[in-house]
Amino acid sequence: MTFKLEVVHFAKKCYNSGLTVGTSGNVSVRDGNLMYITPSALPYDEMTEEDVLVVDLTSGDIVEGARNPSSETPMHSNIYYGNPNVEAIVHTHSKFATMFACAHMPIPPVHYTIADIGREVPVAPYARYGSEKLAKYAVETLEKNQTNGVLLANHGVVAVGSTLDDAYRRAETIEEVAELAYGSKLLSEFKLLTDEELDEALEGFKTYVSN
Ligand SMILES: [Zn+2]
Repeated sequence: MTFKLEVVHFAKKCYNSGLTVGTSGNVSVRDGNLMYITPSALPYDEMTEEDVLVVDLTSGDIVEGARNPSSETPMHSNIYYGNPNVEAIVHTHSKFATMFACAHMPIPPVHYTIADIGREVPVAPYARYGSEKLAKYAVETLEKNQTNGVLLANHGVVAVGSTLDDAYRRAETIEEVAELAYGSKLLSEFKLLTDEELDEALEGFKTYVSN
């Protein structure tokens, strides 16, 4: 699959699975110094590979594509710039995770699958969508917490990975654990997993494709 097709495939997957609604959210993948990213404000069911933009990460110039790039292009490019290991990014406003973001509350380790993201999913401070400040906060929070995902306060979710498969799976996991945390808080207090239990789960993920 070409990078452009991959971006379209995962953008549609986010929409079809309900992780994104309307034209919210965006998906990108990096190839060396180039970033392939979804366009701004185009319904996912109409998106084709011709709509995907190619951006030079050094100059910030659009080198291919006629549409406007996603409004969160600065955030995507700053994350790639600061993290050589990140090759793909999925950004959503998925409902339960965004509820935690609106409450400025990290998603706690109530389910072992969160180990794929980190000890918890931390919250980056609020800044206006599309701003350089938001990009800076997202990068800083990812780095400080050494996680594969971050909540953007009063906004949404960012998941990263070395492939779009990884980033997408993590965006899904973040939403799932957020929903479980929300529900378990209604039933009782959180019963958190320990660092050792999370380490043990993470170790298991290395040998199990499906868990
Ligand atoms: Zn957004």
